[in-house]
Amino acid sequence: MTTPTDAALETLHRVFGYDAFRGEQEAIIRHVTTGGDAVVLMPTGGGKSLCYQIPSLVREGTGVVISPLIALMQDQVDALAALGVRAAFLNSTQSPEQRAAVESAYLAGELDLLYLAPERLAVSATADFLDRGKIALFAIDEAHCVSQWGHDFRPDYLGLSMLNERWPSVPRIALTATATKQTRQEIQQRLGLSEARLFVSSFDRPNIQYRIAPKNQPQKQLLDLIRSEHAGEAGIVYCLSRASVEKTAEFLVDNGVAALPYHAGLSTPVRATNQARFLREDGMIMVATIAFGMGIDKPDVRFVAHLDLPKSVEGYYQETGRAGRDGLPSTAWLAYGLQDVVQLRRMIDESEGDAAHRRKLTIHLDAMLALCETIQCRRKQLLAYFDEASTDCGNCDNCLNPPEGWDGTIPAQKLLSTVVRLQRERNQRFGAGHLIDILLGRQTARVDQYSHDELSTFGIGTELTESEWRGVVRQLLAQGLLAVHGDGFGTLVVTDATSAVLKGEVRVHLRREPIAVNKKPRLSRSVTAAATELPPDVASRFEALRTWRAEQAKEQSVPAYVIFHDSTLREMATRNPSTLEQLSGITGVGAAKLERYGQELLSVLCGDHAQV
Ligand code: ADP
Ligand code: ZN
Repeated sequence: MTTPTDAALETLHRVFGYDAFRGEQEAIIRHVTTGGDAVVLMPTGGGKSLCYQIPSLVREGTGVVISPLIALMQDQVDALAALGVRAAFLNSTQSPEQRAAVESAYLAGELDLLYLAPERLAVSATADFLDRGKIALFAIDEAHCVSQWGHDFRPDYLGLSMLNERWPSVPRIALTATATKQTRQEIQQRLGLSEARLFVSSFDRPNIQYRIAPKNQPQKQLLDLIRSEHAGEAGIVYCLSRASVEKTAEFLVDNGVAALPYHAGLSTPVRATNQARFLREDGMIMVATIAFGMGIDKPDVRFVAHLDLPKSVEGYYQETGRAGRDGLPSTAWLAYGLQDVVQLRRMIDESEGDAAHRRKLTIHLDAMLALCETIQCRRKQLLAYFDEASTDCGNCDNCLNPPEGWDGTIPAQKLLSTVVRLQRERNQRFGAGHLIDILLGRQTARVDQYSHDELSTFGIGTELTESEWRGVVRQLLAQGLLAVHGDGFGTLVVTDATSAVLKGEVRVHLRREPIAVNKKPRLSRSVTAAATELPPDVASRFEALRTWRAEQAKEQSVPAYVIFHDSTLREMATRNPSTLEQLSGITGVGAAKLERYGQELLSVLCGDHAQV
């Protein structure tokens, strides 16, 4: 008798061309295939899709996947079709004829998977329609969208509690790569999945190198990063505002780097075109606001750069997680400076919503700032945020180039007492620049204007440079020992915590910025073997395979990775199979692709393939 696990394993080999399940996949798939409900927390690139795709294929009926990613449904369905899986979607972008065709395929039992946008389920006609066919399971993708605590809240997700009420016997699996306890609890509660089995994977992404650099000339720093480490590779650059997205994309293009902008101010067709180009063209860089990226499953994004500080660790982790889904070495790089702290603190003060909302935003920001200012392993701190214990990683900036901690109590006292004097004695407030001028004893026009050279702190801070002082101000802001006044000018004021420092009751620990090194250090953790440099004959086969793949992708107008992933092509180039049998043993070569491309691939590998 075949057990559900046998059938699942057989499907893994035949359809997906993979040898073995990864991590929790097998347990999840067994549980859902036998009718259980599941909540799955797995990092980006962990392999969540198989967790519902295989049960959908093994169980009778159609797996219904709820996904907020309308713009990506076509690509998801194309990728499944390339594997010989019968998949379709229903969303608002389709014509009535297209919809009717999908509906009749579902009713005829000819679909393995059906992707739906959550708002469609709110329409009772959709539920009635689903009832007329056979539902294998419900998969709720990006399940953190139900969480109001999180950063991607979608009101339509709240309606999904109806799934259980209407179809109590259909198994449900909710999946997300966002892992805080609050989010997890909200998913369980709001989706009626408190009884469901919880599967939590490690959130570590060992192939991603986390780096947070002091920001001085962000665009130039970015260009250096691209030129020295990621020339010709795909990447995502995140900026806070639409204007800085536009400017940064322009700057890259002016410097000969292929880049496109993406933000909510662009028209829908422009956004769609830029997204499609990013997915389809090799080595394209997307400069975007956080409106871009959820569900982007391009496997070969080699770096994610942040030119502005993310508002939360969750956001940072999600965004950086879009790098390196294929397991190959990738970079997460963030440029961070004093102005970021001032700006985000001010945005919170000015944000709409009540005090509780602002407090939530502040908690999020403080955790992000703590990650930026830490002298410990970044990964350790990042994972600790998701309640996961780990050891020093050897693959983050702090591990590779350990920064020093130093006792900054005295400089902190000098700065804070300047702020206090101005505030108390003169009822004045100033931004960081002027405060630093005072400490350095600079006779500027403004110093003259206000006679600030008469302050007792004038000129008492010459032991530090201007940029060191900016680091002190930034860290005091990050630690809540200074605050940004709500006047909209970014002036600084003391906080309740300040006086303990001035009285010497509390010591201030600061981080000394290491001298920036912009060289890619060697990875000490295990990463996929494909990452290592290829010997010349293998490299030339790999290039031939890539050329062949580009032709195929163009002909079919699908992203190259829908044909085969880089990792699959590397394995082919390395193992150089000469028979179909050998070819089928390569990871990522399933039955459908073997039949469709097998002969051609063998001729590419032996050099007989005519290039068009
Ligand atoms: P997630 O949705 O969790 O971000 P995906 O489902 O897109 O991750 O999977 C990430 C990558 O890993 C994909 O390229 C997928 O094909 C691959 N993958 C998933 N499971 C396996 C497996 N068992 N063996 C080999 N590759 C796998
Ligand atoms: Zn580390």
